[in-house]
Amino acid sequence: MAFNPESDDIFAMPALDRTAPKGGFPAPEILPDIAYEIVHDELMLDGVSRMNLATFCTTWVDDKARRLMAESLDKNIVDKDEYPQTAELERRCVRMVADLWHAPDPARTHGTSTTGSSEAAMLGGLAAKFRWRKRGGTGTPNFVCGPVQVCWEKFARYFDVEIRQIPLRGDRLTMRPDDVVAHCDEHTIMVVPTFGQTFTGLFEDVAGMSKALDQLQSVSGLDIPIHVDAASGGFLAPFTAPDLIWDFRLPRVKSINASGHKTGLAPLGSGWAIWREAADLPGELIFNVDYLGGSRPTFNLNFSRPGGQVITQYYDFIRLGRTGYTRLQSAIYHVAQYLAEGLTRLGPFEMIHGGNPHHGITAVSWRLRGDQDFNLYDLSDRLRTRGWLIAAYPLPADRQNETIMRAVIRHGFTHDMADLLLADIVRGLEQLAKHPVSTSLTRAEAGGFTHNATAAVPTEKATAVGAKS
Ligand SMILES: *Cc1c(COP(=O)(O)O)cnc(C)c1O
Repeated sequence: MAFNPESDDIFAMPALDRTAPKGGFPAPEILPDIAYEIVHDELMLDGVSRMNLATFCTTWVDDKARRLMAESLDKNIVDKDEYPQTAELERRCVRMVADLWHAPDPARTHGTSTTGSSEAAMLGGLAAKFRWRKRGGTGTPNFVCGPVQVCWEKFARYFDVEIRQIPLRGDRLTMRPDDVVAHCDEHTIMVVPTFGQTFTGLFEDVAGMSKALDQLQSVSGLDIPIHVDAASGGFLAPFTAPDLIWDFRLPRVKSINASGHKTGLAPLGSGWAIWREAADLPGELIFNVDYLGGSRPTFNLNFSRPGGQVITQYYDFIRLGRTGYTRLQSAIYHVAQYLAEGLTRLGPFEMIHGGNPHHGITAVSWRLRGDQDFNLYDLSDRLRTRGWLIAAYPLPADRQNETIMRAVIRHGFTHDMADLLLADIVRGLEQLAKHPVSTSLTRAEAGGFTHNATAAVPTEKATAVGAKS
């Protein structure tokens, strides 16, 4: 029978009468409609991103943003000369973010869009390393941090810098100012506080660390700069805790990274690295590309990159402004607080971070109160059967024997969804009470998952897919 794409049902077409190519490079060609159907249908197996409370990243974008993303699908951000207006929008975003973070001269300082906080962190770390060498630093450089996202372990390994991760002692959940100085020496290129910790969502005390380093300088002469990893806090605190001092208002803070695709609300693939002043980015890291007959400095790890993320980030900035971001981020905090209150009422949970905008990001983290007949991996597993992805994982060293759970509340998560989640948690608790799971199951056997590579199950660590999103 002749093949007629106009009238034939797609599911009766050839090429759908066998399974999709999976191994060697496929030999035959197939119609785009059929290829689309195959790919589209396979993706039904993925979780629903808005029910994925393990991720920090944007899972809701409005129609205008989608349109701009589609319209700029073909624009390479590295082609500054060919797409000068995309380059201009990036420059405006850099000035806006520098202004938001109180750089002394936002119009003239250096900054760049990146693919995310990971690339921005590498750039911030490299700049610190180059500045340290210029000051006469020799030997193996190191940097000091608390529990960090996996990108900092990558930075250490890829660029041959020792990572001095301060273990959590006592009941501490973050690196504290009085922890820092003992780990610093003349090889320390920077201290990296995390402003919105991956594990708990809590802010580290950047101002306190800056003060501790001021004291270190006054007694030892060591002048150690700070790079703030503000991956998710960078687009929250300026709006919802403006009195919290963590940014370039502290002269010791020389660079900051944030993920535009987290609380910046841009689609995936957007990050920012900003330096305090132009002089804080060593010239060796800068390359020049053609731009409108002149040249533009670039400092990225990638060459070609999509331009849509920056374009859409600019759209977000001018669409919402300070007023809109404040209104929206406050609303998200309220949902987080609503969830935290609901969880507290259930009984077995003790809040670590209840969504207070002065304490941390738009997330809720909790642990089990006392001895229970189940663990949080069991609960995570129960919730998964309803489509909720909520991470349970051990705390970082030296508190690895304690398990916590974290839900990141994002744009697009409503009070009503929080209610549905709470109802499913109640159902999960009832099921676990009726049919206790062996609490001796390892998290891998229980299907537990985590996005913290430092705390990930070995297979995740080996493949690095545990990288915190
Ligand atoms: C998410 C995150 C990163 C990595 O950011 P990407 O944008 O995913 O590359 C780094 N640090 C912290 C604290 C994070 O939360």
